[in-house]
Amino acid sequence: MRILITGGAGFIGSNLSRLALSHGHEVVVLDDLSTGFRDNLDGLDVDFIEGSILDPSALERAVEGVDSVVHLAALGSVPRSIADPVRSHEVNSTGTLRVLEAARAAGVGHAVCASSSSVYGLNPALPKSEREWVRPMSPYAVSKLSTEQYTLAYQQSYGMDTLAFRFFNVYGPRQRAGHVYAAVIPTFLDALLRDEPLWINGDGSNSRDFTFVGTVCSVLLDAVERKVSHPEPVNLAFGTNTSLLQLTRHIEEVAGSTADVRHRDPRPGDVPHSQADNASLRALFPDVTAVELEKGLQDTLQWFRDVS
Ligand code: NAD
Repeated sequence: MRILITGGAGFIGSNLSRLALSHGHEVVVLDDLSTGFRDNLDGLDVDFIEGSILDPSALERAVEGVDSVVHLAALGSVPRSIADPVRSHEVNSTGTLRVLEAARAAGVGHAVCASSSSVYGLNPALPKSEREWVRPMSPYAVSKLSTEQYTLAYQQSYGMDTLAFRFFNVYGPRQRAGHVYAAVIPTFLDALLRDEPLWINGDGSNSRDFTFVGTVCSVLLDAVERKVSHPEPVNLAFGTNTSLLQLTRHIEEVAGSTADVRHRDPRPGDVPHSQADNASLRALFPDVTAVELEKGLQDTLQWFRDVS
């Protein structure tokens, strides 16, 4: 199959590109390198197009001859969206619409798009099923809600086979630390390796359903290969509930060293707890198995050691 991966030079996209190539697929990557890195794709035989999903001509080239689109390009991070909500809206909401439109115009029959658990926002239910009400707490979460809703509307409006996944705190190799919008696991691993403090925003009771990138990519590829489509969003996580304090302990165990854990004020827009009900995922992907947190952290730490 020929697969277009938007955002393919990013963290999840570059892991997916590797996996798709190893399954014998052709991969086209469209990425403007705004938060991704060309060297994430080093050594991979991908058809790389440097350009934006907001540029119709780049998109037109990218979708040519493609069987399925995995749309991952976006500006991630809640704080980034609070700092610049219009930009997050343009890339994440308008960008998704442009990707879907380009796919429709080219007759691409299948698209998988990345939404986020952040859409649940103020809803306190745990675990969270896809039928729970949503109440985004940040411009990022709103933009991901529109990403998934456009994706699903293309099923009803145009008969395109589409699937909208809600990712929950994905982590693993190639997720970078060292920038202001970095995610918690790479930030903690990087700090530990540099003998620097691990700063927790808040008291550390906030919890997350951490999902290893290898697991996410195997589900994404299975979705593409079987052209899976579903009329509702699908949580892509495994119902775990790890507090940030527990995470620091896991990281200490895996690294075999003691962390200097410190606390600072909670961040605005951060959801207190996040845990998926994944009955829908299991019904659609009955063979899926999740990499455990300890194993995923070991692989991620190894990657950090290799690149540092
Ligand atoms: P990432 O920042 O590593 O990857 C995003 C990629 O999109 C980058 O390579 C970036 O350069 C590219 N991009 C950004 N704007 C673009 C544009 N206008 N045109 C073309 N390319 C553009 O992030 P990631 O963690 O790999 O996230 C992938 C997707 O998963 C995103 O849609 C994100 O919202 C979603 N998601 C991720 C997580 C997570 O925990 N990592 C959680 C929920 C949702």
